[in-house]
Amino acid sequence: MTTIRFPSGPTPGSVLGAAPDRAESAEAYRATGGYAGPADPAHGAAAAPPLPAELLDHLAASGLRGRGGAGFPVAVKLRAVRDRAGAPVVVANGEEGEPGSVKDRWLLRARPHLVLDGLAHAASITGAVRGYVYLSDPEAAVRVRRALAERPPPLPVEVVETGHSYVAGEETAVIRRIDGGPALPLAKPPRPFERGVGGAPTLVSNVETLARIALTAARPDLRERIARTTLVTLSGDRAEPVLAEVPYGVPLRTLAAAYGAPDAAGALMGGLFGGLVDRGALDLPLEPGALAAAGTALGCGAIRFLASDACPVSAAADALRHLAAESARQCGVCVSGTGAIRDAVDALAAGSADADTLTKLDRWSRGLLGRGACGLLDAAAGTAGSLLRAFPGLSEAHLRTPCPDCAATPPGDAGRRLAVAVPRVADGTPARTPLPALKGTP
Ligand code: SF4
Repeated sequence: MTTIRFPSGPTPGSVLGAAPDRAESAEAYRATGGYAGPADPAHGAAAAPPLPAELLDHLAASGLRGRGGAGFPVAVKLRAVRDRAGAPVVVANGEEGEPGSVKDRWLLRARPHLVLDGLAHAASITGAVRGYVYLSDPEAAVRVRRALAERPPPLPVEVVETGHSYVAGEETAVIRRIDGGPALPLAKPPRPFERGVGGAPTLVSNVETLARIALTAARPDLRERIARTTLVTLSGDRAEPVLAEVPYGVPLRTLAAAYGAPDAAGALMGGLFGGLVDRGALDLPLEPGALAAAGTALGCGAIRFLASDACPVSAAADALRHLAAESARQCGVCVSGTGAIRDAVDALAAGSADADTLTKLDRWSRGLLGRGACGLLDAAAGTAGSLLRAFPGLSEAHLRTPCPDCAATPPGDAGRRLAVAVPRVADGTPARTPLPALKGTP
């Protein structure tokens, strides 16, 4: 069971909102200042919502970055679509392929109006004439369709469902699926802002990003706080998974302790996108720039802490088994490269690796980066490289001595071990009992 925790109780400008375990109605959302609702003393909504150009200025000034994984500046992406010739399209992308992330599915289930309001604001800024909500979660689809019927948006919005996979949320896969094709990535360019849905300039935006656009429209006075706060999915070997909303800057070690893994030996960062980090790296702040400078990434905000007695080789093997199984098998270099990396790390875990395995892994981790049409091959190469960098002694030790933790981890269950369940979101009125706090976080 995945629980939802506030760091220190609900705050204005929060994506989690006041009652994250209940599906929010249009009326309840409007009471928070959404849909340009009236000022509410309880929520302190803005008296007059900003015009589209003003909102774009607020988003640029706040430095808001996308929350789908790449972390691209939101204002730059919006301007790129607005400035193209043609009738733009906007897409709310709720297909989260990272197995350790639940935030996007929770958001669509619990606060569909927040996402739809953000989509409408993105349409106003870019001049878009139609929109889509793209997802694979059936429960989220029901809630979004209900929200669209409850309060029709100012532009036509269609829900497009897809099958769940690691690559289905990649932005070119999104375009392809909406256009009636398979949800598989294509080589870039053209990028969606150049040629997207039906050939039109298209904004593909993560649903948490859209939620933060809507919150900024309602509370421009809180724009920096909204831009510098993020949803995280915390998981690991010992404690129950947690969905929380935390400010940038909080040390990873503080998050580990609050989650229930104070002695964590490291973490698998950003879903499978940020690779492995060791115990010392847990002193890093949860901040995209600082994490990138240290060679890792926040990605979609999924962090899997390694228990103090867990083997990082076993964790890397699970990640690589999952990535190899999820390869769309379109690019020859991905099919052979991801498979070869998986086999090499599997051999390390099984205690049957050749003496030159670490040399080969090092070569592949550098040489395969950027060679696939999407980020899956990069994630595989990055995971292997991070294992060698963060845990060099342990990797070498696996060449000599069989590892009991690896031996106790059945290879076939990798996807199940990495997966995190979406928190339960019920219909009806908000719970009276306050949700538990994620103790120790700001
Ligand atoms: S890199 Fe791999 S997963 Fe990505 S498009 Fe190519 S074959 Fe598919």
